[in-house]
Amino acid sequence: MIKADYHTHTYFCDGDNSPGDMIEKAVELGLEYYGFSSHCFTDLPHEILTDEKAYISECVKIRKEYKDRINILIGMEMENLLGKNSHKEVEYTIGSTHYLFVNGQYLCLDYSKDEFASLCKNHFCGDYYKFVKEYYKTEAEVVKNTDCTFIGHFDLITKFNEGFVLFDESDKRYTDPALEALAALKEYEVPFEINTSQFSRKKKSELYPSMFILKKMHEMGCEIIINSDAHSPAMIISGFDEAVSRAKECGFNHVNILTSKGFIQTAI
Ligand SMILES: [Zn+2]
Ligand SMILES: [Zn+2]
Repeated sequence: MIKADYHTHTYFCDGDNSPGDMIEKAVELGLEYYGFSSHCFTDLPHEILTDEKAYISECVKIRKEYKDRINILIGMEMENLLGKNSHKEVEYTIGSTHYLFVNGQYLCLDYSKDEFASLCKNHFCGDYYKFVKEYYKTEAEVVKNTDCTFIGHFDLITKFNEGFVLFDESDKRYTDPALEALAALKEYEVPFEINTSQFSRKKKSELYPSMFILKKMHEMGCEIIINSDAHSPAMIISGFDEAVSRAKECGFNHVNILTSKGFIQTAI
């Protein structure tokens, strides 16, 4: 069992609960490591106005309070196009692409199915493959732009594409840009996360990334780390058994665990 989860949210951003509620559950589940990773402050459409200082000071307080029970790391989920973390207390960052910059505007791509469809219609003439291409072009820069510790939900662009209703993920117009971004990011030697969030909510049958991409990650020698992207206590480590089994099926024999001294690897 993986006893660590580093992609989690609280009411300091768009999560439902306090850091204390989340940690209580993490302790109950027997986790050894737990990372808080609030979204950074964003002043963009569907803004997440995280009070970064209040968030960090609450995490510091909780870490002290629970220091004998669980190892807490303070992280932040950075926005690709908004740059790097500037808080010295933040020990790790997740590099994520929730926004594209197109036609002079920031476009949020994971807010809702309807908004996703209208973005495609208004900015890509309804051509999902153009949308996909722009997404992966932006995603390919995520480590350079955020200097992240690991990469969050690499193929978030598939969020509303269950059953390939919008675009065919086996089409070269999808796979070519995805694999180009993967090849570019692989060079940084930063782990990619397996993110169970949409799978656990039963919104997707695939994890992030899909099996196709996860297999390619293994072939290319990428490292992985498993996270839930929990927005409530019930989601912490949910879907991890499935993530481990799919990672093994793709050839992985270990995953990464983040400690205060950096990554260590654990067999699966
Ligand atoms: Zn995210
Ligand atoms: Zn997240």
